[in-house]
Amino acid sequence: MATKQFKAESKRLLDMMINSIYTHKEIFLRELISNASDAMDKIYYKALTDDSLSFDKDHYYIKITSDKENRILKISDTGIGMTKEELEDNLGVIAKSGSLAFKKETELKDGYDIIGQFGVGFYSAFMVADTVTVMSKAFGSDEGYMWESNGAEGYTIEPCEKDAIGTEITLRIKEDTEDEKFSEYLDEYRLKSIIKKYSDFIRYPIKMDMTEKKLKKDSETEYEEYIEEKILNSMVPIWKKNKNELTKEDYDKFYAEKHYGFDKPVKHIHIKADGIVSYNAILFIPEKMPYDFYTKEYEKGLELYANGVLIMDKCADLLPDYFGFVKGIVDSEDLSLNISREMLQHDRQLKLIAKNIKNKIKNELSNLLKNEREKYEAFYESFGRQFKYGVYSDFGSNKDVLQDLLMFYSSKEKKMVTLDEYVSRMPEEQKYIYYAAGESNERIEKLPQTELVGDKGYEILYFTDEVDEFAVRMLMTYKEKEFKSVSSGDLGIEENEKDAKENNEEYKDLFEHMKNILSDKITAVRASKRLKNHPVCLANEGELTIEMEKVLNAMPNNQNIKADKVLEINIHHDVFKSLKEAFEKDQEKLNLYTNLLYNQALLIEGLPINDPVEFTNNICKIML
Ligand code: ADP
Ligand code: MG
Repeated sequence: MATKQFKAESKRLLDMMINSIYTHKEIFLRELISNASDAMDKIYYKALTDDSLSFDKDHYYIKITSDKENRILKISDTGIGMTKEELEDNLGVIAKSGSLAFKKETELKDGYDIIGQFGVGFYSAFMVADTVTVMSKAFGSDEGYMWESNGAEGYTIEPCEKDAIGTEITLRIKEDTEDEKFSEYLDEYRLKSIIKKYSDFIRYPIKMDMTEKKLKKDSETEYEEYIEEKILNSMVPIWKKNKNELTKEDYDKFYAEKHYGFDKPVKHIHIKADGIVSYNAILFIPEKMPYDFYTKEYEKGLELYANGVLIMDKCADLLPDYFGFVKGIVDSEDLSLNISREMLQHDRQLKLIAKNIKNKIKNELSNLLKNEREKYEAFYESFGRQFKYGVYSDFGSNKDVLQDLLMFYSSKEKKMVTLDEYVSRMPEEQKYIYYAAGESNERIEKLPQTELVGDKGYEILYFTDEVDEFAVRMLMTYKEKEFKSVSSGDLGIEENEKDAKENNEEYKDLFEHMKNILSDKITAVRASKRLKNHPVCLANEGELTIEMEKVLNAMPNNQNIKADKVLEINIHHDVFKSLKEAFEKDQEKLNLYTNLLYNQALLIEGLPINDPVEFTNNICKIML
């Protein structure tokens, strides 16, 4: 019989398992039991609609059998089983779990850490066994198949005798070494405690034959052993337990067991709702961004159970996109079991649950922001951008949920602040919420356009995410205050308005001339109201800002959109004297200066200059 090779990725993971020095090898049992439970969820769901299947809960269980002498541990289930092809596909190739992709990203040393933090699934059996045999008979098939592997060499698949539908996994437990006593995984009491620890809430009974002692008949001192099959788990799913019976650790363990993430959740939300719609839910707010969060592979959604039966792995309708990072499960008695996935979308109960959940998450995040600022900021660093996309994509209903969760870096506080904090600090005469957009805080800090607003003592919010400006455009106002870019034509700072008007009159001819030199690259040249120390900058006219122009043009199939730009000149700067002089005496010089100043303004904005070679040549010219 031919031995097949594992796919490269799988082989790497397998090697890691075989050579693992990881200390919590016991989690292999959690992984195998969770797979068995998944397989039972699948067949249980089928049984709802298929008369040939028993819908009797007693029929679905997991059995653990330990044979110390022969070093054999078996885990069998009455789940959906696997066909020959499925054995090949599911066990020959590492499942999508993505642990390897994750490993590459963070380059964990030797990868040992990921075993505990991230689900590695079936292959974890090789941490404790040198041979693993999987006998399985799939629902709807007449034949059983046996998959066997002793690790690195590859695996074989052949037909086998198996009566009942389901899967039986046989582990030949490794020999003890000086450092490691693998025999512990054959010990009934040790197995029992591992199951209690990790798999207590599995909803199907986990059975094991336990050796018990009782007094011999007619004896007061002599004991005899007997075997009794016992159920080791309490079978109450964690979400049905009372909150006060559970510790943070229990929730964290559940999070790890479910492979929701390789981090520890920042917060869990346990909901027991008994109202118009009743449901239990446990939701988690992760701390770190999943490695695939911003890829199209990432699927948002919560596990959905109808009265204890899993009906959907990832029910997307339960979460708005901007809370797409939330993980967890929802179990409701009010959902019909036979509902199809298409029908679910329109289900009234489900919509109510979704709305309810949305509010709970919002409240929890608000509390986090209020009471555990540091944690919130760390969380916001990972997921805050989602909120801005949320505001941007659907103005009407998201605004109220999201606007108080937003944070931006503040020029004054030198840290992240909320809009509420900003507005509450505004001096009375300040009309607008000012912001400056740019690549980084450092770059924005140096923008000449921030000078006047900054000098006025007004706080400026720094927008460094591409979506920021688009998002506040949708918000329009916060607490009735409008947002205003520091580069916009009208800053709403009065005394300078007057000043600038007069100056523009006075230098009308010069400015017109300069505008002609630059032609349609700009819409006008004006005396600046906002510059203090810099000679020149660009300002905005119209709806589209320069930052927005950059973002839009960076997108594929862009239409080369241009913001209306005004070249602003600081007439109190010494450079302006040179301009005036050139205007009177030397047209060629004026030409040169105008172009130089325009290009400088572009560079300050982070915009490309049209002809860098000409620009440098021009600089050389004035040096000679
Ligand atoms: P995951 O559980 O994350 O999918 P695993 O490595 O644990 O990854 O399992 C791989 C796949 O093998 C499962 O998705 C499932 O399809 C299949 N499988 C594993 N164990 C069983 C089982 N006891 N019964 C049926 N299918 C199983
Ligand atoms: Mg698994």
